[in-house]
Amino acid sequence: MTSEPILSIRGLNVDYGTGQDAVHALRDIDLTLHRGEVLGLAGESGSGKSTLAYAVTRLLSPPGVITGGEVRYHRVTDPDPVDILALSARELRAFRWQELSIVFQGAMNSLNPVHTVHSQLTDVLKAHRPETKRAERTARATELLALVGISADRLGAYPHQLSGGMRQRVMIAMALALDPEIVIMDEPTTALDVVMQRQILRQLVKLKAELSFSVIFITHDISLLIEFSDRIAIMYGGRIVEEAASAEIYRDAHHPYSDGLLHSFPALHGPRRELSGIPGSPPHLAAMPAGCAFHPRCGKAFEPCGTQVPVLAAPPGDGSRTVACWLHQDAAVGAAAGP
Ligand code: SF4
Repeated sequence: MTSEPILSIRGLNVDYGTGQDAVHALRDIDLTLHRGEVLGLAGESGSGKSTLAYAVTRLLSPPGVITGGEVRYHRVTDPDPVDILALSARELRAFRWQELSIVFQGAMNSLNPVHTVHSQLTDVLKAHRPETKRAERTARATELLALVGISADRLGAYPHQLSGGMRQRVMIAMALALDPEIVIMDEPTTALDVVMQRQILRQLVKLKAELSFSVIFITHDISLLIEFSDRIAIMYGGRIVEEAASAEIYRDAHHPYSDGLLHSFPALHGPRRELSGIPGSPPHLAAMPAGCAFHPRCGKAFEPCGTQVPVLAAPPGDGSRTVACWLHQDAAVGAAAGP
């Protein structure tokens, strides 16, 4: 991992709907993915994690609309970053798969049931590299399966002849088919059991080291991220509320919501943590509480929390993380714009 950015998101705002009926799904998202790192995005359903993945990849469909901000992709060879939000449809088609690929939630069920693994893998190659010969495409499909730990004799298999874990690995192989620089994985292992999830993630991290791509990994299960990601950004109510190295989040989560998430999942390693969960439910986007959106569920809420939105900033004297919480905010930083 380097400190060089490969993807930078600044001030990203996304609404669902327009005019008076618009609800703010993402507010003021600032996030950087560094070259070679695994960046984890954690948060409960409705926190905005998937909306962020869709917005960054320009796959947001109506009524979702990007209302502000920028998303830039930094190529090694080009000093000028690519403005992803300004790419034409043609440029976007080339950009996706070749430079950035995405594995969606439930992707393992999106394999076409009437086509073999061979035909689905080689179709990607045929569409994006039409100059390749059939034998080359088959060789690449075999190589891709080997990368994800599936033997070549499964090339002729149909999806229903594979286990859930294998189908998910085929989807990862497909995402890697054109050697992308960035892979975004949106809850790709949620449907699998914990052992299989960890096997696949371990393999992904190994592949990342071999092939040098960077990963944004989205899940509600923060314990997986603690183990497999370099940094974690935690989302709540469409905002990032804390961002730090995984080890720092594990050691000393500052935001009460991050702490609540940590106590919602059993730790996979290290000392046993008491599981307490988080009281209440995530807010509805159309009825976001005033002030800190977490305040109705927060056991540490105090005077400014119900009226003023804390900004995401480094706590005084601590440059290792950013956190949006009045407990760690210098009053001089001021409040963010409301919901
Ligand atoms: Fe809790 Fe207040 Fe911090 Fe929000 S700002 S997490 S309500 S203490």
